[in-house]
Amino acid sequence: MKIIFFGPPGSGKGTQAKILCQKLNIAHLSTGDILREKLNDNDELSLQLKKIMSSGNLVSDNILNQIISSKLISDSSMKGFVLDGYPRTLTQSEFLLSFSKTKKISFDFIFGFEINFNIVKERIVLRSEKEQRSDDSIDVIETRLSKYLDETLPVSDFFADKFSQNYFKIDASKKVSEIENNIMKIIENGKN
Ligand code: AMP
Repeated sequence: MKIIFFGPPGSGKGTQAKILCQKLNIAHLSTGDILREKLNDNDELSLQLKKIMSSGNLVSDNILNQIISSKLISDSSMKGFVLDGYPRTLTQSEFLLSFSKTKKISFDFIFGFEINFNIVKERIVLRSEKEQRSDDSIDVIETRLSKYLDETLPVSDFFADKFSQNYFKIDASKKVSEIENNIMKIIENGKN
């Protein structure tokens, strides 16, 4: 089962991706998590990444495309995966579509998480207190939300159009358990 999650920061897609991957026993490919892990390396690249990520800006497409292409063909992704946080720009989506065509990877479901940005801001402030993520302050969240609107929403819309049979909108303002049930129902029912 190969799945893509789109949605703004704080929409709960990371939480849902974790739950779904456990249920289906597939790989959770969260580019945010992969990049945060790289920050521990304390080398030149990690210093650059830290600067970009803590400001709420996007890391370069080249770095992301390299990371994700190796993950997509790794053994742990063979049974399936949830792509969480990628593709985030049109360049990334072009890369993903051509890479997946070459490797004969097709996507079974694409979920677009939708939520009012005021709810996102409240959630992020709470998360920053709990998890101490340096990119969860209210200033940085404004940048992350505007990056989402400018760069990622057009990609999500493009996928909704191109894969209309497999694209499903999710009301991300609901409770975690309700969203979980909605996603499972859609997967059980199959395509549109
Ligand atoms: P996330 O946990 O998905 O919100 O990602 C945290 C940060 O990692 C983002 O604000 C970006 O700086 C960076 N990042 C994660 N995924 C991508 C991506 N696909 N393209 C560019 N930057 C990314």
